[in-house]
Amino acid sequence: MTLGGKVFRGVCVGFYCGIGSCAEYQAVGSMISNGEKEIRTIVAVFYDEKKKRYGVIPPCGKCREMIHQLSKKNWNCNVIVSGSKKVKLKDLLPYAWDGTIEK
Ligand SMILES: [Zn+2]
Repeated sequence: MTLGGKVFRGVCVGFYCGIGSCAEYQAVGSMISNGEKEIRTIVAVFYDEKKKRYGVIPPCGKCREMIHQLSKKNWNCNVIVSGSKKVKLKDLLPYAWDGTIEK
């Protein structure tokens, strides 16, 4: 969800040959296509085949860095990391690379 309240979604795509991407990349791509880059809250979910239910999973390290580089304002975005806990991106990425796509 962006700062303005728009919701963008993605789906994790993975193939046996190793090609694929996390859902966050698709959601961020859709955001950029719609002129957005500042995130208020992000959550990733997965379907647990054993438990037959959805669960929350924190974004991987690559996605954490990508979200940070998208906009430094995302440093303070909320990341839901479990069914009952959310943290700031800066708490998940304490030593982020200092690059950004912002000019
Ligand atoms: Zn990821």
